Amino acid sequence: MTRPAILPPATLGLLGGGQLGRYFVMAATTMGYRTIVLDPDPSAPAGVVADEHLVHPYDDPASLQRLAFDCDVVTTEFENPPAAALDRLAELVPVAPSPASVRIAQDRIAEKQFLDDNGFPIGPYAALDGEPSSELGAIVAPAAIVKTARLGYDGKGQRTVSGVADAVAAWAQLGGVPCVVERRLDLDTELSVIVGRTVDGRVEPWPVAENRHVNGILDLTVVPAAVSTELADRAVGVAMAIADALDYVGVLAVELFVVDGRLLVNELAPRPHNSGHWTLDACVTSQFEQQVRAVCGLGLGATTMTAPAIAMVNLLGDLWEGSVPDWTLVLDDPTAKLHLYGKSGARPGRKMGHLTVTSDVPTAAAARAVELRAAVVQ
Ligand code: ADP
Ligand code: MG
Repeated sequence: MTRPAILPPATLGLLGGGQLGRYFVMAATTMGYRTIVLDPDPSAPAGVVADEHLVHPYDDPASLQRLAFDCDVVTTEFENPPAAALDRLAELVPVAPSPASVRIAQDRIAEKQFLDDNGFPIGPYAALDGEPSSELGAIVAPAAIVKTARLGYDGKGQRTVSGVADAVAAWAQLGGVPCVVERRLDLDTELSVIVGRTVDGRVEPWPVAENRHVNGILDLTVVPAAVSTELADRAVGVAMAIADALDYVGVLAVELFVVDGRLLVNELAPRPHNSGHWTLDACVTSQFEQQVRAVCGLGLGATTMTAPAIAMVNLLGDLWEGSVPDWTLVLDDPTAKLHLYGKSGARPGRKMGHLTVTSDVPTAAAARAVELRAAVVQ
């Protein structure tokens, strides 16, 4: 399939106004596009940098109408816009990624079914919505994680359990909504592969990132990942094949577990991803520019790194507890870049910004990034 390229100064619509959207808007603006963001939060980080910010719910009919009539293409920066709203938009204006892709990625049950049906490797799991199925007993030993099928992020909507009764109790605690129960795996490490894919099926991956999570929230990303070239190539192959299987248009992130040297797909994000923030500071083309290029039907930019290695650490609201962080050392370091998203309420666990450090060696970049983050606490 092809469609005519959407060229500046066309208008791009965006559902969601978080930090991912903010960078998308900044990339689009740099390239000469206009942007309209729909997000109910008046202080949404992307809203304040967009040409226009519609401060309304995602399913507001008048706002969807505005996006459909005023935009040349509409995209999303989070996986949870109401699928019906995307369907409505898609009847009137190009939407990328497609509502079908977003629908799969926003529901863990649909996502696992899709991955399994298409032969992609995933860990042992069972769906749970009330009465436990016969397979659950084999999944929950020795430990398992119950995750709500929808709306979870940053480890939210998850409970670690052991045993079937415990899993059912956790399901009830999580609101009695449809859940997946995954065996808790002993991870060698976690990887992510982000790819851009065009309307006519060209795919461009970024180098594989290695991720450390703390309390279910991404803490540290290092690129290139400290894994064999063979494993990294396989990870890229899996991500590209998933993008093809979805007939995906835009930037797609694939989170992977490495268990006993094997790759298992954890989850998909139908958008740029926190573990791809480094592309802003050490890559010819950032994931956000690529999202603009892909959804506008342009060619993809090069994903070559501009430094041998880079590390990114997230800056969570916890750093603001007690006093405002002191950024002096970060800003004094010529290898470091500070990113703050302009959010006012610094709650624990909330992503307020991130910082990156480039170096010749991945481990040195990681050590310096962690050190600089620790140094901001006064
Ligand atoms: P979220 O949507 O919040 O990112 P994830 O399913 O990716 O949810 O879980 C967040 C993190 O929790 C993962 O990156 C990983 O560190 C840990 N985790 C999740 N599922 C498992 C599992 N089955 N076994 C071991 N660790 C897991
Ligand atoms: Mg995740």
